[in-house]
Amino acid sequence: MSQIKATEPDIEAQEILNAWRLIFEEKYSSELDYFLLCEEDVFGFEVQWEYLKQTPLHSIFPNSPTKCLELGNQVIREQFQTRDSRTRPVIRIVGFDEEFSYQLGDVRTRDRGRLLSFNCIISNLDTPMGWLKKSEYICNDCETTWSIRQSLARERERSIHCSVCADTYYKEMKRTDGKAKIPPPTNISMIVEANVYEDIQYIELTCPIMLKKHTHDKNRNPLFSYLAVINDEYVGHLSLNQEVTVNAWVELDHLPNRDFAMDTRRVLVFKIHSIEPGFKNRLF
Ligand SMILES: [Zn+2]
Repeated sequence: MSQIKATEPDIEAQEILNAWRLIFEEKYSSELDYFLLCEEDVFGFEVQWEYLKQTPLHSIFPNSPTKCLELGNQVIREQFQTRDSRTRPVIRIVGFDEEFSYQLGDVRTRDRGRLLSFNCIISNLDTPMGWLKKSEYICNDCETTWSIRQSLARERERSIHCSVCADTYYKEMKRTDGKAKIPPPTNISMIVEANVYEDIQYIELTCPIMLKKHTHDKNRNPLFSYLAVINDEYVGHLSLNQEVTVNAWVELDHLPNRDFAMDTRRVLVFKIHSIEPGFKNRLF
């Protein structure tokens, strides 16, 4: 169970936090001031990859992208909070190098976990929806609160006990050889109004190379498209047949409409980090 506790950041985390602070102060301070006027709840703040390359993030980011982004989002939110803004910006890194470029049709399961950059055409858009990103709990005995991060398209993780009361409970049981008459540490409730939801939308992607092949294919093989998921400010803002550069993590997920966990088949799902208009020319 992932109960979140405030701890000192490790050395790498401190290095990441410092790098982001420098990037925002040196490269984006005027943009930050400008975006304070923005009244949207959530919006993407674009950061150029070339600025990360000049910092330790150049080597840390490809190996720990999630950690780098979480800490970066923490830094940018601090910048907004110190300027008295309640807006929740999210970092969208754009302008990735050639080393991230990949062909959509070449992706296989071996690429799972990689962050790659693709030329894409949007071939389908699903209805926007939401998901429970983080659930919040409270102990009715000691009033400790904690949260549990959920995973998209997985069974909801539930908390079953308060770790503070559990500590006391097990110590007392050990001391009395299990004879203590104290209630188990399970008197907890979910704080429904504190749960965090995120807007998402499933979309489908194809690519110019696959489209061209399909157009000239005398055998009329089907045109493949790949499932992808977008979040926050991208939801509801894309159009069919739009040409975009997609920077996304390759992930594997259950087949859509199969809710039993034992099915071993998986589909490739692109978890989109950022979207840029148009194609990267150098791929042609
Ligand atoms: Zn408790």
